[in-house]
Amino acid sequence: MPVREILQLGHPLLYEKSLPIDDPFAPESLSLIIDLDDTLADFRKTNGFGRGIAAPQIGLLRRVIFICTKEPSFSGALINPVITKGTDRKVELWDSCFSFPELMVRVSRADEIEVEYYSEQGDRLRLEAEGDLSELLQHEIDHLDGIPAVMRAISPQAFMTRQEWLRQGRPTG
Ligand SMILES: [Zn+2]
Repeated sequence: MPVREILQLGHPLLYEKSLPIDDPFAPESLSLIIDLDDTLADFRKTNGFGRGIAAPQIGLLRRVIFICTKEPSFSGALINPVITKGTDRKVELWDSCFSFPELMVRVSRADEIEVEYYSEQGDRLRLEAEGDLSELLQHEIDHLDGIPAVMRAISPQAFMTRQEWLRQGRPTG
């Protein structure tokens, strides 16, 4: 199973802008998607959490993210995703990342967004997302622009170790 190493915070590639995929059916695009799927599944199995991953996190500067959520149920790749709409209404939350799994960072995200992307089948699709899925998509699309969530911290005090976050009973809002 092509599980890839996940780059950790501080790695220079996490701050680079990724390039669009020209052909979703090219063999390298398909193998990239499989690697993201496998790496996400492996991380979930090992750590018990994780809902999304972006190609730059496995060292490939291409605009592809892979999402796996239960509520709402969504599993698959979003190729060249673009946020086309976002509400002004914001939500604050404690966010984390495979690239810094032991650190929580408090960020502010748009409550609802609309994303256009290509599916693995090459279809141009539109996804309206709110709540958890909305903030997840914003987190992953930020990776494609070289913006790890620590760069979205709402203040210098907006950091907490996962251990402390768990001790506080997993605060969300
Ligand atoms: Zn992340």
